[in-house]
Amino acid sequence: MSAAPRAKYLLRFDDLCPTMDWAAWEALERIMDEQGVQPVLGVVPDNRDRKLMVAPAAPDFWDRVRRWQAKGWAIGLHGYQHTYVNAEPGILRLNKQSEFAGLSYAEQHEKLRLGLSLFEREGVRADAWIAPAHSFDWVTVSALNALGLRVISDGFAFGPYRDSQGSTWVPQQFASMRPMPFGLWTFCYHPNGLSPQGIETFRRSLEQLRPGMISLAEAVALGRRPRSAPDRLVGALRMAVSGLRRMGKPQGKPQGKPQGKPQGKP
Ligand SMILES: [Zn+2]
Repeated sequence: MSAAPRAKYLLRFDDLCPTMDWAAWEALERIMDEQGVQPVLGVVPDNRDRKLMVAPAAPDFWDRVRRWQAKGWAIGLHGYQHTYVNAEPGILRLNKQSEFAGLSYAEQHEKLRLGLSLFEREGVRADAWIAPAHSFDWVTVSALNALGLRVISDGFAFGPYRDSQGSTWVPQQFASMRPMPFGLWTFCYHPNGLSPQGIETFRRSLEQLRPGMISLAEAVALGRRPRSAPDRLVGALRMAVSGLRRMGKPQGKPQGKPQGKPQGKP
């Protein structure tokens, strides 16, 4: 690519916690350091999800989080304990499981407050909200607003926008990198279980898209506009795709592992 790329890209990683897959993560972190990109990291404040316990706990986990933030990487609040309490799909309707959607304002506010106070105790600033399983509702958004967290990494649109409550949504559309003609596209990876081949594909894709990579702060600065009609089209197309996929799968297993979604695992 000789001309400046018109599309902008953002990398996001979910499920960072003390017992994550450190071998895969350290390889990814080296690649991003070498290529000078600034991703968004979804950190679980107090992980209780056994599916995210895949390696011995790193005793220096919070030191690592503070170092990531110190080098300009954004830290997202990825739920509270990453435990699903119901089968609510929330606003985005991607996965039928949630730690937040469907709960009362008081319950959601309390979980968010506890998560944020753990961050605060560890000297970490929450730069964005990253819902486990992409499942949250407008009650979550209100509670986040009340707690001062007004950036959401999720949703479908061609670029960042501001909702009627004053929160900025930085859309998250794909599970892996791909070139796009225009817009802002967030690619959400899950380091746990990423194979050496997957990491090599990541490196090659990043070399290609790196000129268009921006930080979360730069993405938020692009979000001073309401959600547009074309943005809604992205959501409608995405709903149609996930509806078709759902039709091809057995129904009635709300607690099952959501597999094969375009956005990957929760
Ligand atoms: Zn997650």
